[in-house]
Amino acid sequence: MAALQPASVIAVIGSGAMGSGIAQVAAAAGHTVKLYDTRAEAITVALAGIGTIYSKLADKGKMTHAEAEAARARLHAVTSLADVADAALVVEAIVEDLDVKRGLFAELEGIVAQDAILATNTSSISITAIGAKLRRPERLVGMHFFNPVPLMALVEVISGLATDAQVANTVYDTAASWGKNPVHAKSTPGFIVNRVARPFYAEGWRLLQEQAADAATIDAVLREAGGFRMGPFELMDLIGHDVNYSVTRSVFEAYYGDPRFTPSVLQQEMVNAGFLGRKAGRGCYRYG
Ligand code: NAD
Repeated sequence: MAALQPASVIAVIGSGAMGSGIAQVAAAAGHTVKLYDTRAEAITVALAGIGTIYSKLADKGKMTHAEAEAARARLHAVTSLADVADAALVVEAIVEDLDVKRGLFAELEGIVAQDAILATNTSSISITAIGAKLRRPERLVGMHFFNPVPLMALVEVISGLATDAQVANTVYDTAASWGKNPVHAKSTPGFIVNRVARPFYAEGWRLLQEQAADAATIDAVLREAGGFRMGPFELMDLIGHDVNYSVTRSVFEAYYGDPRFTPSVLQQEMVNAGFLGRKAGRGCYRYG
């Protein structure tokens, strides 16, 4: 198997909702994990949260207390990108913005070893475009986890036009070794899941705008009659409206303004207001 061995160091850049989940899973799988964020407090919060989750898992008998302690000890906060020089795989989970991601990977290229793999957790941005400015775009691949990372098995392994098949296979096998169900995909706007999910959210917003029903009713109908685990509004509150809105905009623009993917002005206002969902204490619902 071509999976990275537990001795390989994994770096996770961005310690928000997704980065902390990826770090939790990678450290539990035996890797030394280096966690970086431009906001130091995000790393502190992530490490504390992961520690609490490991303890709860140990209390429930899902891992031993010794395993929980060992996994916690494998997690390290780093304060400079230079500190990830020994990473065999860097997984980026920062803001959903092409230029910011490109800038980060350009910097990383000068730091990590020649054979290190660069992976992005982007939800929708072209892997080809993110890699295009790199000296070696063949080592850039999408490693798209779903939220919450420890509970969601699917990982889309996305190849851009320049991605080396060997790199995609290593990431695929590594995700499998972490207990995930990876799937290979090519870089198309929104990839597989975020493409087919767009109408789910868009029709929810349209129903709300036409005052067909309130968000709680629409969510309940989709859950109870539609068989979905979550309705569109509770799911967007979990994902974060800033992230979800950026993804819709990116898919809309990539398809030259196809009206099927038109972003919602209601959601734009939620983002303007900072009503970003669970992480902000308020989204379509109120929390805490
Ligand atoms: P988040 O806002 O919770 O966390 C992002 C973190 O990145 C923040 O802590 C921020 O301080 C940090 N950051 C921003 N710019 C940075 C930089 N230049 N260098 C280092 N750190 C930086 O966001 P998230 O929900 O974790 O999403 C991160 C990525 O994962 C996005 O690309 C998003 O599209 C993708 N994603 C999100 C979800 C989801 O459900 N939220 C699911 C799959 C993929």
